[in-house]
Amino acid sequence: LYNQVQDLRGNIRVYCRVRPFMPGKPNHLSTVEDLDERTITILTPSKYGKEGRKSFTFNKVFGPSASQEEVFADTQPLIRSVLDGYNVCIFAYGQTGSGKTHTMTGPPELTKESVGVNFRALSDLFLISEQRKDTIAYDVSVQMIEIYNEQVRDLLVMDEIRNNSQNGVNVPDANLVHVTSTSDVINLMNLGQKNRAVGSTAMNIRSSRSHSCLTVHVQGRYVTSGTVVRGCMHLVDLAGSERVDKSEAVGDRLKEAQHINKSLSALGDVISSLAQKQSHVPYRNSKLTQLLQDSLGGQAKTLMFVHISPEPDTLGETISTLKFAERVSTV
Ligand code: ADP
Ligand code: MG
Repeated sequence: LYNQVQDLRGNIRVYCRVRPFMPGKPNHLSTVEDLDERTITILTPSKYGKEGRKSFTFNKVFGPSASQEEVFADTQPLIRSVLDGYNVCIFAYGQTGSGKTHTMTGPPELTKESVGVNFRALSDLFLISEQRKDTIAYDVSVQMIEIYNEQVRDLLVMDEIRNNSQNGVNVPDANLVHVTSTSDVINLMNLGQKNRAVGSTAMNIRSSRSHSCLTVHVQGRYVTSGTVVRGCMHLVDLAGSERVDKSEAVGDRLKEAQHINKSLSALGDVISSLAQKQSHVPYRNSKLTQLLQDSLGGQAKTLMFVHISPEPDTLGETISTLKFAERVSTV
């Protein structure tokens, strides 16, 4: 039933989430004029639309006061489909500081209420597999990788292994770690975060310039027939989508910016060609889309969270984010 409901709604969905103003900052006038369940209206410089405002419609819009729980409630059906043998990709897109990590992981100090989609998805997965255990025996394992400058790096490696491997080498077979509880996953996510931070003086800068992907592989075996179902879920916190001023960026910064730009537009091209049901889907144009090929398109389900900030000084980025979102949307 869940999958039928999902199919009716389509395999590609786009949700928009607006971050609240940061505490302690002066209260500006928000660039978001209005929003409801599905439509968001932005105040724009007049060149972007008639009368200085433009509306965008998505599968769902979450305003600044939406809780983590509310956001996850609309994500939950996808978790069941992973256990039913479907592949799922959940992406967080937006400029740096717009709330991608908040949605996927949560704020720096995690509480039961503030944990994000990753943790909630995993606890749901274990809960449902427990409920089904008399019928289906599930096996869950996870991988965690980072893509930086089109190079894949395994984040679930122990110190010795990492120090011996050459920096930046491709890791097509990232460690697959068997897990049996959400606390196992939390420990691994902490290890992954630690590995991500090493070798980078400014962890936040690095994390905003790389894609990080937590992949959960699920295998279920029907107790009586022995039939096996396999599904997987990729939870992707994308690199910041902000454009870098070409006249200012040089050297490493420019190279990073070009790689990010290339991979985000490749992702946009893949999803929009799937949304428009085109016969050719250009998976080969970036590492990210190559890696996720089996989980994008076909029977697979995609959810894109696009994040926007309410501050007027980021209006340009807000508009380009919404235009990206509009392009990959099927609404
Ligand atoms: P990004 O990962 O896109 O760079 P973050 O998730 O780090 O952005 O968010 C930037 C800041 O805003 C963080 O301090 C985060 O905790 C806060 N924040 C983001 N979204 C929300 C939200 N919906 N509610 C409360 N605080 C948020
Ligand atoms: Mg982040």
